[in-house]
Amino acid sequence: MNNIQISKNFKLKEFQCDYGGYVVKLDSTLLEKLQLLRDKLNNPINITSGYRTPECNKNVGGSSNSYHMKGKAVDIYSPGYSPTQIAKAADEVGFTGIGTYSNFVHVDVRPNKYYFKGGY
Ligand SMILES: [Zn+2]
Repeated sequence: MNNIQISKNFKLKEFQCDYGGYVVKLDSTLLEKLQLLRDKLNNPINITSGYRTPECNKNVGGSSNSYHMKGKAVDIYSPGYSPTQIAKAADEVGFTGIGTYSNFVHVDVRPNKYYFKGGY
């Protein structure tokens, strides 16, 4: 289930959380920008955290108003690219929330621009 191709390079199941069964919320703008980012980097993007149910969010210690619970955020990495390089490209394709961590980048589609450095 959820093994559906929803854009050129992404399947729905990649957005599913480990503890949430098959429920997935996914904002269409998020998917659109993620595909743009994939095309821009011309390199695979791995989603380490996509949609989170409230339980799932609690398990990973996410903030209580996390954009992950709205289907509007993903944590990603792309082999061969540094988080800083990915963050720069994410900014260029129009992601608004961008958090740079040591080994991944959080991107989301919140209303206003917000950049942050994640904890290490
Ligand atoms: Zn995140």
